[in-house]
Amino acid sequence: MENWLTKRATLDPNKVALIFEYTDFTFTELNSTVQLYASKLYQHGIHQGDRVAIFTANSFNGYIATLALQQIGVEIVFLNTRLSESELSFQIADSGVTDCLIDDNLKHSQLDNVSVSKTMMSKILSMPASEEYEPVKEFKNDDVTSIMYTSGTSGRPKGVLQTFGNHFYSAIGMSLNLGITDDDSWVLSVPLFHISGFSIMMRSLIYGMPVYLIEKFDETYINRILINERASIISLVPTMLKRILNNLKTGQNFNDNFRCVFLGGGPIDNWTLLRCQMLEIPVIQSYGMTETASNVVALNFKDADRKVGSSGQALFPVNLRITNQDEEGIGDIEIKAPNVAKGYLNQPDLFAAKMTDDGFYRTGDLGYLDKESFLFIKGRKDDMIISGGENIYPEEVENIYGKIEGLESIAVIGVDDDDWGQIPVAYVTTDKDAFLNGQDLIEYGRNRLAHYKVPREFRLVEAMPLTSSGKLLRRKLGNLDYQKI
Ligand code: ATP
Ligand code: MG
Repeated sequence: MENWLTKRATLDPNKVALIFEYTDFTFTELNSTVQLYASKLYQHGIHQGDRVAIFTANSFNGYIATLALQQIGVEIVFLNTRLSESELSFQIADSGVTDCLIDDNLKHSQLDNVSVSKTMMSKILSMPASEEYEPVKEFKNDDVTSIMYTSGTSGRPKGVLQTFGNHFYSAIGMSLNLGITDDDSWVLSVPLFHISGFSIMMRSLIYGMPVYLIEKFDETYINRILINERASIISLVPTMLKRILNNLKTGQNFNDNFRCVFLGGGPIDNWTLLRCQMLEIPVIQSYGMTETASNVVALNFKDADRKVGSSGQALFPVNLRITNQDEEGIGDIEIKAPNVAKGYLNQPDLFAAKMTDDGFYRTGDLGYLDKESFLFIKGRKDDMIISGGENIYPEEVENIYGKIEGLESIAVIGVDDDDWGQIPVAYVTTDKDAFLNGQDLIEYGRNRLAHYKVPREFRLVEAMPLTSSGKLLRRKLGNLDYQKI
């Protein structure tokens, strides 16, 4: 395909491409700013075929620098700014980047003592432009443009090789689902360094759509944009959505052009969905992973009422099947689609082991499809508990306990048991002054769940172990100090 940015600037020169802190940039302005920056990067020594890391918040400079690296034809390694020093050291060594471009707002960070050549974004600004630089002419389907590490929920993060073709088909699948119009615009408040954020950037070029770039997640500021501007779509993860809802004042409504919240990253509780319904905020739930370069399944609001608990149907380019089904139809979720990544960096065998002979990617997640092919996710295969021959899905149990007053969070795992093989136990954190009693919680569960699914014991901990992106690190629960309640 022709270079998406230069092509878009030709097709829609005067259309708004980016809105940052109430300032608009057209595609012409975006393109010229990016090309100038790319030319300076070139002068600095970054050339086609290099692999360069970027450490950035959702800043204007970060947005420009990311696009500039793509224009040069660099493989961009996106670093999560919340990682620890040792996590960053691993990713930098593993990816073998020649340089790391750093947002000036993150001048002092966990990267300080990591050994890699570092360049501040502002330093590039003072470089002269190169006379030799030219943007890449083509974005080839099979070329890797981004490398993103998985969240590390199930073990050490893997560097996922994402190609232009992956991002293109991901954007097309999404547009066929949403029906993008000329009036659409997308609020980018999820991190740029995650596929959820970077995919919005790519959609902007592919659709010719403005992006509202939000540097710092501040619910008051975001609500102001959703209420007063013409923003039509926003991507959020469940915790962000809750913060936005809590911040909305009675009587406040989003602008007339607003279409939906696009929700990803993990399961959402029914109570939050109900609140959105009451506030008439359409929510599209979705399912995807770093390896599929964004979402592969989405549940549109028109189906939300009759398909509570589902993540939706596979997007048009996505072939999804369930294998190894049990008697209830629950089994391994497998995906074949042009947006499935090329592989894992430095670990081709690991990726190959996840591919079936007929080209499906084994996600490692469990779920079932109903008669109308709506997907219901049950959780990760590795997290499933088998107790006395019965399967227990921790997320189902946790969801039942989602709304108890004083209970801040709950996570269920299996522990070994002589009689049952494994039994479920729950780790909980509570609100400051709350006193919860294990026996009451067991009783609560028994009124709502099959008895074998009810945690046998409730263990109070100080805090849940989380990944840098806020996901529960279930495998670490067993090592925590706890107090039985
Ligand atoms: P790692 O692969 O390193 O263990 P990870 O799988 O958490 O980390 P991501 O690619 O960020 O890394 O997350 C994708 C995973 O998140 C999916 O495989 C799935 O387990 C979970 N997930 C995503 N969307 C949903 C959803 N709607 N409902 C339930 N789980 C979801
Ligand atoms: Mg994963």
